[in-house]
Amino acid sequence: MTTSFDPNSVDLPSGHFIGGTFVSPAGQDGIALRRPSDGQYYVDCPIAPPGLVDEAVRNASAALTSSGWGTSRPRGRVKAMHAWADLIVASAPVLARIEAVSSSRPIAQIPDVDIAMAAEQIRFFAEMADKEGGDVVPTAQDHLGMILTEPYGVIGAITPWNFPLLMAVWKAAPALAAGNAVVLKPSELTPFSTLFLADLAVRAGLPAGLFNVVLGDGPVTGQAITGHAGIGKVSFTGSTLAGEKIMENIARTGIKPMTLELGGKSPQIVFADADLELAADIITRNIIGNAGQVCVAGSRLIVDQTVAQRLTALIVERMQQAVPGPTWNANSSFSPIISARQLDRITTLVDAATKAGARTVAGGQPFQCDGYFYAPTLLTDLDTSSPAIQSEIFGPVLSLQSFQTEEEAIALASHPTYGLAAGVFTRDLSRAIRMTRRLEAGTVWVNRYGRSWDHILPTGGFKSSGIGQDLGRAAYRASRRNKSVLISC
Ligand code: NAD
Repeated sequence: MTTSFDPNSVDLPSGHFIGGTFVSPAGQDGIALRRPSDGQYYVDCPIAPPGLVDEAVRNASAALTSSGWGTSRPRGRVKAMHAWADLIVASAPVLARIEAVSSSRPIAQIPDVDIAMAAEQIRFFAEMADKEGGDVVPTAQDHLGMILTEPYGVIGAITPWNFPLLMAVWKAAPALAAGNAVVLKPSELTPFSTLFLADLAVRAGLPAGLFNVVLGDGPVTGQAITGHAGIGKVSFTGSTLAGEKIMENIARTGIKPMTLELGGKSPQIVFADADLELAADIITRNIIGNAGQVCVAGSRLIVDQTVAQRLTALIVERMQQAVPGPTWNANSSFSPIISARQLDRITTLVDAATKAGARTVAGGQPFQCDGYFYAPTLLTDLDTSSPAIQSEIFGPVLSLQSFQTEEEAIALASHPTYGLAAGVFTRDLSRAIRMTRRLEAGTVWVNRYGRSWDHILPTGGFKSSGIGQDLGRAAYRASRRNKSVLISC
């Protein structure tokens, strides 16, 4: 059972984590951090200059060589990573507070969702280390053709702030299980659970230096990672805008493979035959969960016009039950927005949508309370050109458009920029299959929406929502490179 706590009592890890220890070089610039739940300043996040990133990469490379992590029998990696997962679970009370104090994640949800899932995903990838391999391919009898797989070496990872612990695990777990070392830069807004995670890895027996964490912003520390010649692959999760900058930097500094998990503006389509109560529960949960700060948030509701009014009423009723409360209060379930800047962005986009003709049916403004809370919002009467349809708002804001035919639903669902996820609610099996095939999205959910505990299902975006996939076998395989071998015999 989780209990409330005093945010000032939490001991946050500080510095960068390089070579298995915390390092805090003097004289580094810092970013002043404020707690999302009450807006109070609490600490500075240092910015690692390129020299420190270079030190982390050299440490990672040296740790790989001295430990034989990627070259010895893979069962060793399996065992070490299970020990790491065990320690994460055992450390849940401390880790949960570290996560709750700086992020938008409520303490009541972190142990059973974020931490439990992080540990399971580490175990999931660990088990691939001694099962996933290359291939022997058909050739003439006098040749042996093989596809060997091998680790890249050092993988550079960069993560966002919306689920700090889980995003770090999505990057670090497949990379490490596949025999690489990692240099990870968490979001400058939420770096602490990632530092703690890396320290736990060493305490669980992973070689020191294998998992390094450098703190900093995108333009300085992030760019130093993506442009570093000693990094074999980049794995990024964040906004499409930052993804574009990363691609540019990689193109400029020396081409290397990259996985990019980017933004979304995902539709949820409701047909007239759907179970509307169930749909309303799921749709509301998936736009107000983590206050809509979820890449796959189903932020565009597309509904058959004959049931639009009824569904609107059901969703508004549910939205109005959200009560803001600090993440360190055990009774809080509705999350704050991560920063004043992000709250301002949401307000600006909703105001622009209403100026362009949208009608606010619920919410439409920040809550009047401490911290950065925005009221769950439902906007209707929207033109496709509305900012509420075009832009990823990354807040608890749902837009509603209605349709008369299946063709119209498909046309509305198609977004000019994004293709991350989509949802369909219908009792008609044939229609569900048709829609699944036609929707342009990396993930389609039918009569449900949102991530599950099926870590085998990879996740990734179409269009500008990204390149490559996290989770599943895909993430493990993308952490190794293929080498074709042909032997004349
Ligand atoms: P962001 O792009 O602002 O920052 C993400 C990370 O990138 C941070 O660590 C940041 O410091 C770093 N960064 C920024 N500019 C960079 C640059 N030029 N070079 C290198 N690194 C740089 O995103 P955010 O605001 O932290 O997170 C929200 C975004 O993340 C949303 O767009 C959301 O959809 C996306 N996201 C996607 C997924 C997915 O699986 N597709 C999952 C979670 C979040």
